[in-house]
Amino acid sequence: MPDALQESEGVCPWCGESISLLIDGSVEQQHYVEDCFVCCRPIEVTVHFDATGQAEVYLSAE
Ligand SMILES: [Zn+2]
Repeated sequence: MPDALQESEGVCPWCGESISLLIDGSVEQQHYVEDCFVCCRPIEVTVHFDATGQAEVYLSAE
């Protein structure tokens, strides 16, 4: 189980801009809403961790 913050890249589903997210590796499953810093629209963020502890981030329009 990873416990460090890790940075992950994603693409905003609204404006298509590439954004970086800081993921808290101590929480196994995460689901939250974060405003895009480019277009300020709410992005639904879902985080899973694979077997190696690497974060997999899924972004969708809320
Ligand atoms: Zn955006």
